[in-house]
Amino acid sequence: MEEKLIFEMSVKGRHGVLPGGFDVPGESPGEVLPGVALRDDIEGFPEVSEGDVVRHFTRLASRNFGIDTGFYPLGSCTMKYNPKINEEIARLEGFARLHPYEPPELCQGALELMYELERYLAEISGMDAVTLQPAAGAQGELCGMLMIGAYFRDKGKPRGKVIIPDTAHGTNSSSSHLAGFKVVRVASEGKGVLTPEAIKSVMDEDTAALMLTNPNTLGLFESNIKEVVEVVHEKGGLGYCDGANLNALMGFMKLGEMGVDLVQLNLHKTFSPPHGGGGPGSGPLGVKKVLEPYLPLPRIVKEKALFSLDSERTRHTATVGRLKAFYGNFLVMVRAYSYLRCMGRTGLTRASEMAILNANYIKERLKGHFYLPFDTPCMHECVFTDRYQSEKGVTTMDIAKRLMDYGFHPPTIYFPLVVSGAIMVEPTETESLETLDAFIDAMKAIAEEAEKDPGLLKNSPGKTETARVDEAGAARNPRLRWVQGK
Ligand SMILES: *Cc1c(COP(=O)(O)O)cnc(C)c1O
Repeated sequence: MEEKLIFEMSVKGRHGVLPGGFDVPGESPGEVLPGVALRDDIEGFPEVSEGDVVRHFTRLASRNFGIDTGFYPLGSCTMKYNPKINEEIARLEGFARLHPYEPPELCQGALELMYELERYLAEISGMDAVTLQPAAGAQGELCGMLMIGAYFRDKGKPRGKVIIPDTAHGTNSSSSHLAGFKVVRVASEGKGVLTPEAIKSVMDEDTAALMLTNPNTLGLFESNIKEVVEVVHEKGGLGYCDGANLNALMGFMKLGEMGVDLVQLNLHKTFSPPHGGGGPGSGPLGVKKVLEPYLPLPRIVKEKALFSLDSERTRHTATVGRLKAFYGNFLVMVRAYSYLRCMGRTGLTRASEMAILNANYIKERLKGHFYLPFDTPCMHECVFTDRYQSEKGVTTMDIAKRLMDYGFHPPTIYFPLVVSGAIMVEPTETESLETLDAFIDAMKAIAEEAEKDPGLLKNSPGKTETARVDEAGAARNPRLRWVQGK
């Protein structure tokens, strides 16, 4: 099963299909092709047959683990199944081959799709206006924080701080910092959710916003959200909610109705477009009316039955400007739109209900086998730790690695940071009872192995191509080029 590098498969003189003689002057490709088409920077360019190439890459591809291969309970990521109809729609020529410079009169359908998607997301989140431009959740956050900064500067009273609870997503602090704010941390004080008192103790007139994640990174609903945001509003601040995990709320709860002024949604999580590997995402931002003038350009406009793009800065003097080339990741929007049209209002509500039910089912059936730091009903995900297993020297990492031997992708581990040795499981609504049971059985078996044979876990996984790779080393010293003899 050892797969060689393609360079190591090279045999002098072996080649793929070669066209017959040239009908232009010259003997070899090197003489015929323009200089820019020739690679002389790779030493020992592999000489392989077409079959070698196809088999090599097909074998490598079959080693990928994805949502189409098996259960992928990665917490805070919503790895739900992506219905193939969404892929079909995104591959329609009119969408897939659309050029971003196409004049609006020739791409009315695409503009209409974006316009409608903005309206759907506004409805789902309880906001007045939406921009689809941000290319990821984190960029949606940054967009929101830039807008908040501009809002206070416009009022002639710039504010310098943002309150972020310890149960917020890690990107929240980074986005606020990037937008020029000083981050003030508040602790959830062991309860797992924020209290109005905790916010009152830090809220002042130099605080621009409270930025919270709901459901928070413990998978808990911030039940005091309305009261907490009220404390912020009283001092003239704004309420930002990271809504990346809307999979627990959509259809029956609107963040806008809980006082939130800005919220970003992750299309590539809640609305099913595939993600992972850093692939394209989409993190639309929804805002209340007062913040609409600050939205990035271009805006999509509907006049009578015609759609157009408005980039006119003289009409939008308050805009924070452009965040992304053209309009954002359009084909991610197409998939999300297709998903929304297939699901409808009742389908979305049902999805959230099932996501919550599935997470609570896992939580209830695994508690006792794995330590549960917050034993309350959860939303779309639940958090365990390695506390019981650590008595035998078995860690969260060992448990995650061993799960791979059972054919499952490991859950999110060591996150959220407020829980030591966290194991965060998010099953999503798209998994069947049989899959959940199989996962629960595997986790129970691992808990038993930890008791009886901790060494087995220490040496896991045993059934995969590689066992424990040096992840930090690979990230810090990436070797992206093959060098002969090394
Ligand atoms: C995933 C996630 C983010 C970041 O989203 P990206 O698209 O990866 O930038 C932010 N907040 C929460 C709560 C998330 O789950």
